[in-house]
Amino acid sequence: MTPIRRQYLKIKEAYRDSIVLFRMGDFYETFDDDARLVASELDITLTGRSLGKNLRVPMAGVPAHSVDSYLARLVKKGHQVAICEQLSDPAQSKGLVDRDVVRVVTPGTVFEDSLLDQQANNYLAAMVAEGDTVGLAYADITTGEFAAAQMSFSQLPLELARISPAEVIVAQSALSGWESAEALDSREVNFSLTATDDTSFETKTATENLLGYFRIQTLESFGCENLPLAVSAAGAIVEYLERTRPITRPNDQTESQALKRIRLNNLAIYSTQQYMALDNRTRKNLELLQGGKGEQKELSLIASIDRTKTVMGARLLRRWIGQPLLELEALQRRLDAVDGFHADGLARNRVASTLSTVPDLERIIGRVVAGTVAPRELVALKTGLEAIPELRNSLDGFGFELQWLQAGLVPCPEVVDVIEAAIEPEPSGGVGDGNVVRSGFSTEIDELKNASANARQYIASLEQKERERTGIRSLRVGYNQVFGYYIEVSKSQANGLPDDYIRRQTLTHAERYIVPELKEYESLVLNARERLAEAEEATYRRVCEQVAQSAATVLRASAAVAEIDVFAGLAQAAVDNGYVRPVVDNDTTIRIRDGRHPVVERVLPSGQYVPNDVELSSESRVLVLTGPNMAGKSTYIRQVALITLMAQVGSFVPASEAHIGLVDRIFTRVGLQDDLATGQSTFMVEMVETAAILNQATPRSLVILDEIGRGTSTYDGLSIARSVIEHIHNSPRLGCKTLFATHYHELTELASTLPGVRNFSVAVAEEGSDVVFLHRIVPGGADRSYGVHVARLAGLPQGVVNRAWEVLTDLESEGRAPVQRRARGTGRSGTSGEASQQLPLFAAGPSLVDSIRELDVANMTPLEALNKLYELQEQANSLL
Ligand code: ADP
Ligand code: MG
Repeated sequence: MTPIRRQYLKIKEAYRDSIVLFRMGDFYETFDDDARLVASELDITLTGRSLGKNLRVPMAGVPAHSVDSYLARLVKKGHQVAICEQLSDPAQSKGLVDRDVVRVVTPGTVFEDSLLDQQANNYLAAMVAEGDTVGLAYADITTGEFAAAQMSFSQLPLELARISPAEVIVAQSALSGWESAEALDSREVNFSLTATDDTSFETKTATENLLGYFRIQTLESFGCENLPLAVSAAGAIVEYLERTRPITRPNDQTESQALKRIRLNNLAIYSTQQYMALDNRTRKNLELLQGGKGEQKELSLIASIDRTKTVMGARLLRRWIGQPLLELEALQRRLDAVDGFHADGLARNRVASTLSTVPDLERIIGRVVAGTVAPRELVALKTGLEAIPELRNSLDGFGFELQWLQAGLVPCPEVVDVIEAAIEPEPSGGVGDGNVVRSGFSTEIDELKNASANARQYIASLEQKERERTGIRSLRVGYNQVFGYYIEVSKSQANGLPDDYIRRQTLTHAERYIVPELKEYESLVLNARERLAEAEEATYRRVCEQVAQSAATVLRASAAVAEIDVFAGLAQAAVDNGYVRPVVDNDTTIRIRDGRHPVVERVLPSGQYVPNDVELSSESRVLVLTGPNMAGKSTYIRQVALITLMAQVGSFVPASEAHIGLVDRIFTRVGLQDDLATGQSTFMVEMVETAAILNQATPRSLVILDEIGRGTSTYDGLSIARSVIEHIHNSPRLGCKTLFATHYHELTELASTLPGVRNFSVAVAEEGSDVVFLHRIVPGGADRSYGVHVARLAGLPQGVVNRAWEVLTDLESEGRAPVQRRARGTGRSGTSGEASQQLPLFAAGPSLVDSIRELDVANMTPLEALNKLYELQEQANSLL
């Protein structure tokens, strides 16, 4: 085994769970299983390398200069990658180069812009359970957000769905428990689960880690004395960051130095009681952040209301949509603020144009603290901070509703001043070439620049001088990497040159010389360049450190900017889309006049969306909505949920009037999901989800049920749907406001037995065999399904439609209506022996089937066969 192999194996042993990228010269290499994995994941060539006698190991490598893009792909696929660098200079070390892992890149600890989504947070979470209680903490190392909470086990999936972390760490000993936890079973959030040392989750260790990280004596100020599990999750995050060292650089010697670079805000302890609970299914069904089949963003709620101008604002709005408020006072304050901007278009535009100059203050200040900020970002930071007094002034004209926001808009003149004084307004990309630090800021840099400029000038003038001295007009001064500056003269003129000419190089047609003076200036130029680079880097670092001192103030300002951005944006959306301010209170009523679906109305040509009212209260708490397919049932019930949610986010709503009694949870369930991709029995899923509602809803919840029971046969489905409604209606623990859309019009009977149930249907105008969907919701149940009408609208051949009319008329006159519905193919019971009953269309043509069956195909001539085929077709045509 070669020494390098031994070195590799030792390092790999310490990072068994990670893919180790082993720096060798200009490449990062992987070996053995890592190599196989990387080759297939990145689609690169698997090679081999001899690393000892008879020892050839698989190897796959990526060039060091493009490692970021490979890293991004590996991390996106959920792998951890340990980056092992060369720590000593290969040119100067004798024998083996020192190597060690400087950083472990994991999905939750990426810091590079290229690996991040600007508009969304990238969270690392940690969780720990004890009995029925869970401690959950999460952090975004790029923005510094850090929060923790304690909650019951049943709330965990909701929180995970809301946070949508990229990675979750758990204690090693609990890993298998978490992997099989039922609570995570139905999760559809994709995160990688990472196991870490049990000790990092112990309350004592965790507390010490937090105290050490924040350099404080007690955790009391965070308000987590009585939340040991929240503390242990938060502590585990800090320790994990210490170990993965996300923002380290090769020359960081100690871990504590590396850790210092990661800036987390003070730990925010929160309670899940503050926010409306939304399970993952509901988030998806309501298409809050992504909508449509291809999960496009344009067809989502956020696309309808996001008019933010900054990425901080965009991220905040995303978070707000994910956690609507339950607290009336906080909600009123938001609505007041939106109202303020809504009422004053001039101020709104002024604020919007100021905001559009503000860069990502949050992430830039993070990079300043980490020491990875680029000069141009510093300048952007300055521009952004300069906008803050402007924003403050813009808010002056407003009343109480916006002035509280001014408090957060603390300008940071010390940061603006130091950047202004120290950094060129348009600096170059890298530090060190003399184009970053402004002249006049550092005498040392200025002198170095002068010296090198003078020397350069001397060299530039040398050509003319020497031409005159030698009389050789074609003499020229040049530069190359090996010989530095030289004087070049063609061979034919190389005789009789002055004595101080020293020959350095002979080319085919020319000779190259130096003169002592030239070399003196040359070393001036080259030295100055090197010293300038050093001086500029040092100065730049000092400036960054100085700016970093104000990180807390900048963050506060950034948070205020984000809020103003969201409020102004929500007001703009309200103006653009014709929304009104909802009345919110602790009542139990939801009353909406002329409500619209915020996404569907944008997709339809303007003016085509038909608004509808709704009234839900404890007296009329269950609405059964019937009507044909495509009438607008699903749209209507979702619109009620979306308007309620928007109101509790603090947004105006698409309606002419809305009164929302606060809702503690919104549930939505959709029977027979369109996406069968999950491969699970959809009916089973449907029932599991329905069970969850019956177990978790409270009288304050809003439940949206769309075609529940459709995933099974008619009678089963009908029975389940019916008993679910009865249970919701009757159970004293429930009685929640419920909207139930169904095409089972038999369910309209429920209204006559249950006092809280009301029937509604979607109006349909019937003109002969044509129907027109009016999309208008009217009291009373639908008495028929219009299935055949819909089939015709869908373009089924006229013959088939006509035949369907016949069959339907027959069935209706025989009073066998349920069979008619089953015949539309929604039933799963079609495999039983009653084919003739269930498939009347085919049952009606037995003679045709019989004649096909009787054919003696083996003994027919081709001509006979053709004739027979023609005959059969005639017969078939006559049938339809
Ligand atoms: P259903 O659930 O009754 O089958 P959907 O709610 O899916 O019907 O609506 C079908 C289509 O009808 C929608 O995609 C939309 O284009 C249109 N639609 C629904 N509601 C309205 C409305 N209120 N005004 C105008 N068009 C509507
Ligand atoms: Mg529908």
